[in-house]
Amino acid sequence: MPLATDAPALLSSAVRDLAYYLDQIWQNYFVDIARVNDVHIDYCYPWKSRLGLIRLSLDQKSTFIGINSLLQLRQVPEYVLVTTIAHELTHYAHGFGSPLPRACKHPHANKVVERELERRNLGEQLRCTDAWIDKYWYPFYDAQHAMICSVRSAQRKQKVLQRG
Ligand SMILES: [Zn+2]
Repeated sequence: MPLATDAPALLSSAVRDLAYYLDQIWQNYFVDIARVNDVHIDYCYPWKSRLGLIRLSLDQKSTFIGINSLLQLRQVPEYVLVTTIAHELTHYAHGFGSPLPRACKHPHANKVVERELERRNLGEQLRCTDAWIDKYWYPFYDAQHAMICSVRSAQRKQKVLQRG
């Protein structure tokens, strides 16, 4: 269904090109990590308590990185998106969601992701991200959620009217 022109940005086309971000982050911070399979990245669901995920296909030929769709919005600082992609790439480097050998037993053991981001000069962006998430994430999420619900309810009403 075509949306009204004043629809929230979330429902319009992606403003932040994830494939571009992934390539840039890989080149700038993870250049030593081999891309041993096909890695796809896309926006997923606007999760409340998850920023991203990484999954390996059963045949190990492809990896999928899913990013919370709210991170494409301009209200979210770019460093939150960068840190989220770098977090998932760290899992890839450690053999989680990738065919690479496992570096540790659990993906988040002993703050291994934070230490890896620090080592790769992403510590400052990580601290900014944590501070932003602590302060703004839930109010931001609630506001976006309310907007999505009101758009959906308007769409439902429209359908009812058309049927009547
Ligand atoms: Zn993680």
